Amino acid sequence: MNALTGTLDPLTIDPTADSDEPPVVRLNAVTKRFGVTAALDGVSLSIRRGEILGLIGRSGAGKSTLIRCLNGLERPDSGEVEVDGRSIVGLGERELQPLRRRIGMIFQHFNLLSAKTVADNIALPLKIEGQKRAARVARVAELLDLVGLADKGGAYPAQLSGGQKQRVGIARALAARPALLLSDEATSALDPETTDSILSLLKDINRALDLTILLITHEMGAVRAIADRVAVLDDGRIVEQGPVWRVFATPRAATTRSLLRAFQPSLPAALVARLVPGRGRRTVLKVVVVGDQAREPLLAELALAVGARASLLHGGVDTVQGRAVGALFLELDGRNETSFAAALEFLRQRASEVEALGHVVDDD
Ligand code: ADP
Repeated sequence: MNALTGTLDPLTIDPTADSDEPPVVRLNAVTKRFGVTAALDGVSLSIRRGEILGLIGRSGAGKSTLIRCLNGLERPDSGEVEVDGRSIVGLGERELQPLRRRIGMIFQHFNLLSAKTVADNIALPLKIEGQKRAARVARVAELLDLVGLADKGGAYPAQLSGGQKQRVGIARALAARPALLLSDEATSALDPETTDSILSLLKDINRALDLTILLITHEMGAVRAIADRVAVLDDGRIVEQGPVWRVFATPRAATTRSLLRAFQPSLPAALVARLVPGRGRRTVLKVVVVGDQAREPLLAELALAVGARASLLHGGVDTVQGRAVGALFLELDGRNETSFAAALEFLRQRASEVEALGHVVDDD
């Protein structure tokens, strides 16, 4: 049994199953093909109210198709799509309109109308809804305040920075009080500092309004910064999903591992170059520790319990979603099979993941 997930398979558990409230979004076994390409291949996914779900995948993974199935622009070949408790598969264009308004969207290139002021851009969804001018003006002032642009209502998009434009995008997306904010690569065109400020704005709004957010991105950093859960899409399939800290600590799917490469502590290249398979005097282990595990005096306890002296080669402890998550690279004498097995067993009971990477061949 995996100490982190119990006996549950993270690909099949429904995180919203224990809640009375219907999820804001529910996809069940959604398949969409274009000729021989399965853009979506049996995708099941739920987002509960107030949650930020990161959906991550490389180009061509099926992210846009999933968005189009969610807002009814594309009809799945099979499967169910529910938004805000209502099934949208099979609805006609007229019935889809009000449901589409339940989803506010923000985009990589902001999609603002350049000939309209910031205030008019934000008011657009309210105008479409038929709201009276006075109500629109009051709501726009509220929204400008929410996104930190109280003094920019009269400005035109060309007069704003990228980060400010995205703030307008967020205000416009929230104008009609949607059930879901769908962020489609909304920070991909921004510099790192602006990305951070937009992500923290999204997190603040999520907390303040209990807003549900689907964060679609190819950037693991964005997911790590604000998402509660992450689902990894690859070739039209969800290959992994779970709490962000769990996926960052112990990614399982090859795609996730590769997307996370930049975030994973790794052995220095000089050591990797001298690493060969099997055990030896200088056997190298990778040990992943999470939460309280990361604070335990692991090496001292290992020495006490089984008499094995391991040294720390490399590694560190980071914080993801408020939890300590660490990867330590240890060196241990692996020549005696019995004591090596005892050390491995000890570590496996205390860590989330233990992997023998090989052993280092000395230069001499
Ligand atoms: P992503 O948004 O993750 O880059 P897409 O949903 O755009 O992925 O595409 C998923 C797969 O489906 C890709 O192989 C893409 O070429 C294919 N695809 C998407 N839309 C169409 C379409 N309208 N016609 C043919 N193939 C499509």
